[in-house]
Order: sequence, then structure tokens, then C-alpha cells
Amino acid sequence: MDRKDYQDYLNWVEEQKDNLYAPASHPRPNGWARLHIDMTLMQEEQRRKVYEAEMLLREAGVSFDNGSGSGFRDWELDWSLEGAIIETRPLLCKVCREPLLGHVYWGDFDKGHGAYMEPFCSPAHMEQERIKATAGGGMFLGMELVDLTPHPPLEKEQQ
Ligand SMILES: [Zn+2]
Repeated sequence: MDRKDYQDYLNWVEEQKDNLYAPASHPRPNGWARLHIDMTLMQEEQRRKVYEAEMLLREAGVSFDNGSGSGFRDWELDWSLEGAIIETRPLLCKVCREPLLGHVYWGDFDKGHGAYMEPFCSPAHMEQERIKATAGGGMFLGMELVDLTPHPPLEKEQQ
């Protein structure tokens, strides 16, 4: 991907964010993010912490709509969000730092601090990281191929 395509891609990511998190004046936003917290899995003390966290954020000037139902506490990170912004970033290959479009190879590693996933553009780049990780005493736990293909900027209609 050359520099222009990359910039197109970054613009596209920004555009998707703007579509998703349209301002309050937007009559019909396309969607929003919600933190859907399962309170039934928590002890009383932990549930209290969730409400405390909301209160502390509000005191810090960060607020959003919230609600409860069916054992869940919802934080609506939508147009009601004030005092913070939702930031989206493109996914980059761990090895070559190219933005990932279409197929993403997720490698599952454990480098001694617990398992975590890293994205790669190709099996070859994942293999490079696997060799590096295992040489350093880490473990490669497996991989998963995911097709992200949304609407890449190159297919986007000209405005
Ligand atoms: Zn790569």
C-alpha cells in the first residue's frame, strides 16, 4: 500500500468513526458504542465499583447516558458522551506496520506475560514474529484468519 492509499485508508477510518458517532445534531446516527456490563457476574462490592466509576468519571467531567436492565449496566458511548471522545485507529501489521485490509492473520502468543493477540498482513510476517518470540523463550499458541473486508477506500464512490 503506497502513501496515498494509506492516507485514503486513514481518511476512511475517520469517516467511519464520524458516521458511527454522529454529533447530537445529526438526525439519524448510524450506530453507537455501548459498554454492556454484566452485573450478575459480580459481587455486591464489584457492582458498587461500577457505579462509583460512573460517579468518578462524572466528577472528572466525563459523562454519558446510562441505564440498567436484565442484570446489565449500560454505558452509552454515543452522542451523549461529553468530556471525552471516541478514538478509532487502523489496525497495523506488527512486522511491517502496513494497515490491514481484508484478511488479517491474528497470531496468539505468550511471551511470558500471558496470552495476547497480534495482527499480521501475511503468514510470512507472522512466521517472522513466531521465530523471534520462540527464540526469546515465548510461545506461539496458534493463529486465526479473519476477513475484515468492509468497504476499502479504493472502492469508495467519488464525492
Ligand atoms: Zn506485514
